[in-house]
Amino acid sequence: MNDQNILKIENLQVTINSKDKLLKGINLCINKGEVHAIMGKNGSGKSTLAKAIAGHPKYQIIEGRILLDQQDMTHEEASTRSHKGIFLAFQYPVEIPGVNNIDFLRLAYNSNRKANQNTELDPLSFFELVSTKSKSVDIQSNFLTRNVNEGFSGGEKKKNEILQMDLLNSKLAILDEIDSGLDIDALKTIAKQINQFKNNSNAILIITHYQRLLNYIVPDYIHIMDKGNIVYTGNSDIGHKLEEYGYKYIHNVNQL
Ligand code: ADP
Ligand code: MG
Repeated sequence: MNDQNILKIENLQVTINSKDKLLKGINLCINKGEVHAIMGKNGSGKSTLAKAIAGHPKYQIIEGRILLDQQDMTHEEASTRSHKGIFLAFQYPVEIPGVNNIDFLRLAYNSNRKANQNTELDPLSFFELVSTKSKSVDIQSNFLTRNVNEGFSGGEKKKNEILQMDLLNSKLAILDEIDSGLDIDALKTIAKQINQFKNNSNAILIITHYQRLLNYIVPDYIHIMDKGNIVYTGNSDIGHKLEEYGYKYIHNVNQL
């Protein structure tokens, strides 16, 4: 056993209707301190992989295993996985009418603390914590008292996801298209925050379509998905090649 290992996925096969396999045998190993990126055409299975790791109930694992810190998570509920340190930032963050953002964040934060036998923070102490953290993602303070994601711009929703990632201090942060719909300033702010979040005991899995995010967060590995499989793994150079030649580049390399 390698204690540097945060995530180990072995032969992961996933379906949603017991018929079609959306993931067809994914193998992936992520060590502490590493940043991995997943790229691939629309519909190649990137979000399915993210949701299967996070434990989305709709995605049934029919074969294989998911280990977090050497613990088998394959059949754990999403909430348990989250408490154990898996964080998924959604591609499309949901609006929650009637629930204000700071209450929502405190609930998530305290439920995590409680599950890990830590003391919960009272509203005032939490407010202090979240105020400091929200400044670093360049979030206005009124944004904390508004309803979760309601009327937030695309960029604000993404920043809110990054704020949650930071608060929950997750071991493995999975960021699904965190860069989509962001202007260049918001992209840089988010990239800076992700780089600051990164340390020697956590890991980050970034799903993206574009090299531009990877100019700011340089991944150790880039994996390319196609039709439910990882078809290529390389270093950060591959992102530039894809930008230049498109996904046919991978096809050509795999033919060699
Ligand atoms: P990506 O994130 O790479 O664009 P997805 O993982 O979202 O791709 O989708 C992979 C494939 O699985 C697609 O063909 C998609 O239509 C299908 N799929 C994913 N989720 C569902 C779902 N909830 N219901 C039906 N099909 C789904
Ligand atoms: Mg997707």
